[in-house]
Amino acid sequence: MPASISPVVISHEHLHDFVRRIFLSAGSSAREAELIACQLVGANLAGHDSHGVGSLPVYARNVRSGDLPLNREITTVVDHHSILVFDGNGGAGQVMGHDAMARGIDRARETGAAIVGLRNSHHLGRIGQWAEQCAEAGMSSVHFVNVVSDPSVAPFGGKAARIGTNPFAVGIPRPGGDPIVVDFATSKLAVGKVRVAMNEGRQLPPESLLTSSGEPTRDPSVLFGAPKGILLPLGEHKGWCLGLACELLGAALTGGKTQSGPKSRNAVINSMFSIIADPAGLGTAATMADEVEAFLQWARSGPNGDVRLPGEPERETRLKRIAAGIPIDPKSWSDIVAAGDIFGVEPPAPLSAPVGNPP
Ligand code: NAD
Repeated sequence: MPASISPVVISHEHLHDFVRRIFLSAGSSAREAELIACQLVGANLAGHDSHGVGSLPVYARNVRSGDLPLNREITTVVDHHSILVFDGNGGAGQVMGHDAMARGIDRARETGAAIVGLRNSHHLGRIGQWAEQCAEAGMSSVHFVNVVSDPSVAPFGGKAARIGTNPFAVGIPRPGGDPIVVDFATSKLAVGKVRVAMNEGRQLPPESLLTSSGEPTRDPSVLFGAPKGILLPLGEHKGWCLGLACELLGAALTGGKTQSGPKSRNAVINSMFSIIADPAGLGTAATMADEVEAFLQWARSGPNGDVRLPGEPERETRLKRIAAGIPIDPKSWSDIVAAGDIFGVEPPAPLSAPVGNPP
């Protein structure tokens, strides 16, 4: 955020209560409102403002238009040995993701491992949350996710948006320690991060966005213009390959929809392919923890500078934001307050208010 604009700072408890009240007022069950609040505020606490309460304006519009149907439940499509396939029926991803993972964890405990397909869910938010849910239960997991919306990312070598920001996540538990959580979009930037940069008046890193005619630009508003700009894949051809794997495993293999044309709905729809493995089922419960720790110690040994582990930045930010509150740029905050207004819900008082003008 430019130094001239200071953020609105809200306590995480007040923000959680605000989101919960919005969804209760919109018609969600108490459980649905709680799960949505937990995940959105959890993403802000983890430092991923792209997938936190800044999503409320879109979610509120989707609720009003019927593109986010409330109080849906997962439907079981296949339940056979280690295989579970669910349909999310377009319902809240926070409920669909949570319940699909809970069923997969139970199954992995019984059979050693579970393959879980979750198709046709409304936005699943921060995918690392599903890896954390598995890791908390002692399970290692891998998650490939596709995104059906306005396509926003060009395949490597292409200059037209044909795919979404397709996230990939891995969770690895560490008995007595914090899990490894790998969780990122396969584009150079997640769309939500571009929105936050635009609202904060920041330029994007070079070589992450093209204009609709294929010229490089650092202006984040280009992604939301008409015609809209095009994000580039992470790591040249490698991000395109991984994004493609997310598309085909996340959607085609689970019976979901791939992004094979212009969007047909106003909502972001995610489908996710997950593998959940119980070390006890693989016969490695006794050795895995020692091997994990031996490798992590080795990786961090020697004159390596500041080697960090995936999941650490999120934990550090969580501790800071629990103590000091969640900073939100003034433009995003006014959009979030307007979303609450749609359902007649008053915003909480900030811990501190902005100084300077929003862009
Ligand atoms: P990012 O670029 O911030 O990368 C985050 C990952 O990198 C985390 O695993 C983090 O622990 C790790 N990391 C960061 N710095 C590190 C360091 N120095 N050393 C080691 N590891 C480090 O993530 P992103 O691509 O901006 O994605 C943000 C969020 O957006 C993710 O939670 C993702 O799931 C979510 N997303 C969701 C959707 C959707 O449709 N639901 C789509 C795209 C992205």
